[in-house]
Amino acid sequence: MTLITSLRGFKDILPDETVAWRQVETRARLIFARFGLREIRVPILEKTELFSRGIGDATDIVEKEMYTFTDRGGDSLTMRPEATASVIRSYLEHGMYQSESVSKLYTMGPMFRRERPQKGRYRQFHQINVEFLGSEDPRLDGELLFMLVFFLEDLGLPDLRLEINSLGCPACRPAFKERVREFLDSSKGRLCEDCRRRLDNNPLRVFDCKNEGCRILIDGAPAILDSLCGECEDHFTRLRGYLKALGVDYVINGMMVRGLDYYRRTAFEVTTTSLGSQNAVAGGGRYDGLTEQLGGPDIPGIGFAIGMERLISLIPDSNLGLNESPLLYIATLGEDALDFSYLLSISLKKEGITTEIDFSDRGLKSQMKRSNRLGCRFTLIIGENEMTLKKAELRDMKEGTQRSLSLENPAELALELSRLAATADNDPGNNNIRNNN
Ligand code: ATP
Ligand code: MG
Repeated sequence: MTLITSLRGFKDILPDETVAWRQVETRARLIFARFGLREIRVPILEKTELFSRGIGDATDIVEKEMYTFTDRGGDSLTMRPEATASVIRSYLEHGMYQSESVSKLYTMGPMFRRERPQKGRYRQFHQINVEFLGSEDPRLDGELLFMLVFFLEDLGLPDLRLEINSLGCPACRPAFKERVREFLDSSKGRLCEDCRRRLDNNPLRVFDCKNEGCRILIDGAPAILDSLCGECEDHFTRLRGYLKALGVDYVINGMMVRGLDYYRRTAFEVTTTSLGSQNAVAGGGRYDGLTEQLGGPDIPGIGFAIGMERLISLIPDSNLGLNESPLLYIATLGEDALDFSYLLSISLKKEGITTEIDFSDRGLKSQMKRSNRLGCRFTLIIGENEMTLKKAELRDMKEGTQRSLSLENPAELALELSRLAATADNDPGNNNIRNNN
């Protein structure tokens, strides 16, 4: 029979990789907590309408990337292509705004977009998603951007570049859209099919088109920053002031509009030169107005999404220090010793020690090899003699030293192992003793 394989663009995250994933997630939780964020978990499936209304009908995501299907009850459902719409739906549905003036929420998990798979671009990918809801104060924008950059730098990401822009608001954007439409009208014939179609209802989409021809055409277009109303101008100026005061480096990119319709005022992207063409690690912006569009009261908000796959591919190996190797390998000689060690091994687990043992009846030499390969710090060797004497030799696989330990009491043995690992170990990241906070 043929082997069943995974879907194109859907990737397994294998045990060797999940170490890095967990390390990033742990770090995120820790830093987010410092900034007062709370975790929310929302479903992967939602009503299609949530995304078509939330993200916008004329976006790439809604037009051609969503996994949408009709379920057996006849409802149109969609696997979430991003998290913001779902988080806001939940925020509104549960009336969170009634109890808190500002809600800071984060969530992590898979997103689904039917794009052309390539390096750094998958059909199921993962995001860390953050939303600050309840205030339009540019201080909040500043804090959010500070936190984002702080988190990425903390992970050791190289060559980061924060680009910011303001996309205006319903007071000033319509006039700007009109100017862009006029600007592009004469060269309409040279735009790609999508952009031509969108020119009427959403000319700003051309700014986000990845098509080379469209990029060239949009090059000399009017700049949105010249068309901002007084309030948007003021908001952007204040944000830049806060970023400066917080020591966050940024560049202004007046051409950036982002791929979702809901953004208003602040929009931003973090890119890196180390990623090649899929160079965006994170993106986001302010979306005042989205809550109303989803049927709730008018509550301003700002958020971002970080792409986990791209993020992880950028972390230097030296920063991935989590070593999850077992602390103790118990090598056994003979069937009885295996029985004895099997029970001892499980008793030690109960006492907090990660142990490994072999059931395959191989020789001592190959058991030692396996211990080495697994990166176990210690190996305990148990045969007939050791069982009778309730004493065994513990080999320190790193130092090459050996000492005799009592097997009488698993709890005491566990304590002794922890003590040895802690004192002999000035090198962080070794085995399960290290608390990676
Ligand atoms: P891009 O311009 O690369 O298509 P985007 O603007 O569509 O990105 P967002 O919707 O803002 O991306 O999502 C935020 C982040 O999620 C991106 O910066 C990227 O790191 C990641 N991301 C988006 N789409 C994918 C994908 N198909 N595969 C892997 N990561 C992705
Ligand atoms: Mg995209």
